[in-house]
Amino acid sequence: MASLVHQAASEAALALRLALSIAAGVAGLVAVRRKLGVDHARQTAATALASGLLHANRDCLKMLATDGKMLRVSEHGARLMEAESPEQLCGADWLGFWSGDDRTAAETALAGALSGTSTSFTGSCPTTKGRTKWWNSTLTPVTGDDGAVAALLCASEDVTQQCELLKALRERNELMHEMESHVGLVFYSADSNFERFHHVSAGVETVFGLTSEELASRPSAWLDLVVPEDIEPLLAEMNRVASEATEGRFEYRIRRPDGFQRWIRSTAYPVRDGGTNVARIVGVSEDITLEQERLAALDRLAYTDGLTGLANRAALVRRMKTLCRQNVAFGLMFVDLDRFKVLNDTLGHTAADRLLKNIAKVIQGALPPDACVARLGGDEFAVIVTGESDKANLATLAQSLLNLFSNDVRKDHAAPFVTASIGISISPEHGRDHEALLTSADIAMYAAKKGGRNGFRFADKASSELLGDFELERDLPTALASNQFVLHFQGIHETASLTVKGVEALVRWNHPARGLVGPASFIPILEESGFIVEVGAWVMDAALAQLAIWQRAGRQGLSMSVNVSARQLRDDSLVAIVEEALRKHQVSPALLEIELTESALMENSSLAQATLLALKRLGVRIAIDDFGTGYSSLRYLADFSPDIVKIDRSFTARLGSDAAATSIVRGIIQMSHELGIKVTAEGVETNQQFHALREAGCDYVQGFCLSRPTDAANLLRCEASASPCAAGKTSCCG
Ligand code: C2E
Ligand code: CA
Ligand code: CA
Repeated sequence: MASLVHQAASEAALALRLALSIAAGVAGLVAVRRKLGVDHARQTAATALASGLLHANRDCLKMLATDGKMLRVSEHGARLMEAESPEQLCGADWLGFWSGDDRTAAETALAGALSGTSTSFTGSCPTTKGRTKWWNSTLTPVTGDDGAVAALLCASEDVTQQCELLKALRERNELMHEMESHVGLVFYSADSNFERFHHVSAGVETVFGLTSEELASRPSAWLDLVVPEDIEPLLAEMNRVASEATEGRFEYRIRRPDGFQRWIRSTAYPVRDGGTNVARIVGVSEDITLEQERLAALDRLAYTDGLTGLANRAALVRRMKTLCRQNVAFGLMFVDLDRFKVLNDTLGHTAADRLLKNIAKVIQGALPPDACVARLGGDEFAVIVTGESDKANLATLAQSLLNLFSNDVRKDHAAPFVTASIGISISPEHGRDHEALLTSADIAMYAAKKGGRNGFRFADKASSELLGDFELERDLPTALASNQFVLHFQGIHETASLTVKGVEALVRWNHPARGLVGPASFIPILEESGFIVEVGAWVMDAALAQLAIWQRAGRQGLSMSVNVSARQLRDDSLVAIVEEALRKHQVSPALLEIELTESALMENSSLAQATLLALKRLGVRIAIDDFGTGYSSLRYLADFSPDIVKIDRSFTARLGSDAAATSIVRGIIQMSHELGIKVTAEGVETNQQFHALREAGCDYVQGFCLSRPTDAANLLRCEASASPCAAGKTSCCG
């Protein structure tokens, strides 16, 4: 500030020169008057000239007596001091206007002038209205005849505006400096080749750990900090900015003088000189270490399996893509735990999660350190083995994994069984891209499952043939949500009257690519995965909803048969599902028949007994399906006391042609009747079979010969014309 004020002062000196010459003139005039004793008129003229000159000046001109009292003030000076008139100031003590340091400066200047030299100083004093103004004052002694100082001429230039401007400038500079030193950014301005910095803000100390002085003396000091791997691309980009005069942005790492490694992002904007030349390059550098760390964390999150900490599917695919691109041979193992759904249900989710984590560790521990182990979701794991991708090595690895599962893991978790099926594909033999390799390994794994589980298979042609099943399995989980299941119904006829006393609901899968798929292709898969529980609940609901529609259309006595598999019977939600469907559709329990196979009843007989009992308590009727194919013990008829027995169609088929089969069927019917159980014969395809059954006293018949399974709309239309068929002719819906 002081130097800036001095600069203003020296500029003011120019203006002062005029005032000084006036002062000299006035002094001369006074001297002449005294010396020559000129007459009054001349004296008046001289005074008038003096005051004229005094008033013409733009400064605040004052004549001071040697005691510092103001003798005269120029008119303009009075205006600058915001006085009413020059007279208002006359007689006032000049020193009295100043205070503090300015007062001291004024006193020194006054004393100096009184001693005969011209003095000047800069200071502020208030006007008569109290407004502070800055003045650049020069005091010039006026000597009398005797050479002594008789008076002083004081010329004060009003430099308030300049001073305020300087003050504002200084404040803005300070603000900028404060901002620059606190934002943690480095603002810089460099020459067009980055060879010298014109300005580097204070942030350089926090960001680079360098002072601006260091950079001024050695502009490349910051480049010396850049880690070796990043230096080349950074210099290339800087050269590009300089030569092409376009914006640039660089991200690089530095090792700061304090040893810490940081990520820096610098931008560079070339500034043109108005023409085509680049005058300088300005930009900002910032520490983006935190941002980079967050990005790295996000990256980890996106490519890591949350439960096990292994790589996830995305990471596996990324790795495979890289290997395929680099033409590196590798083996891919698809590891899928057997019957995990069952384990999950029996162990509970927490324990099952623990088991999965443990399995992750076991897989990782058993493989070479550079193998990539990923969890693809659920109980599916995948492993990429590079280096030793020949079959013998991979087979050894797979077998050792299987051994570990059935020994270590099983012991650790007191799990009833932990086995896995492994499918292996090899690059490039089984595919040149990740998709082909994943599919081959997946199919091979599926083949291993079909081959009895707890084993491994390499991808080959035979397993590819299972692709069909595999695709169904893959598509099943979404089928329910996308409403791809539909029900067909088949009439169950009274043997005597042929009237339809009930219908059996048979599920079909309306597959988007394959069309209508029969239950034999997907019920086993649903059972294996446990999905049958959900799909079964849907069947129950949809079947009773349809029955309610028929009831409203006047078919009050019609019953509905619904198939329930062993897996459903084991699930304790079954009773609630049935109860809910009955309640929802206002169907009498007596009209619902649940068909269970013998084997389902035998599989877990105490639980099955309990469920059966609960269902019976609801008033639901129970049928034993496919009777004759399982244990075929008539004793079970007494044990389970079903309402209905359905003779399997393999017996029906032999009726008439096979004497033994005929007598077995007769025996079943007789025995059942003695126990109060009704009998339905399934798969009645011919007139002959129908007549044999009628003769044997079979209560109900069901088969293509009477009506084929069809959708709800079709069923009642066909029923009207149902009749036992003549040989070779099926019913109208055939
Ligand atoms: P199922 O319970 O024995 O059902 C009768 C099967 O015999 C049906 O096959 C039916 O179309 C077929 N059928 C009927 N009349 C004749 C005939 O005269 N000749 C021949 N050859 N076959 C006849 P579908 O619909 O393919 O069902 C197969 C099996 O799938 C069913 O056997 C049943 O065990 C199961 N299933 C069907 N729907 C469901 C369901 O909703 N839940 C469960 N858990 N299983 C179901
Ligand atoms: Ca059935
Ligand atoms: Ca059956």
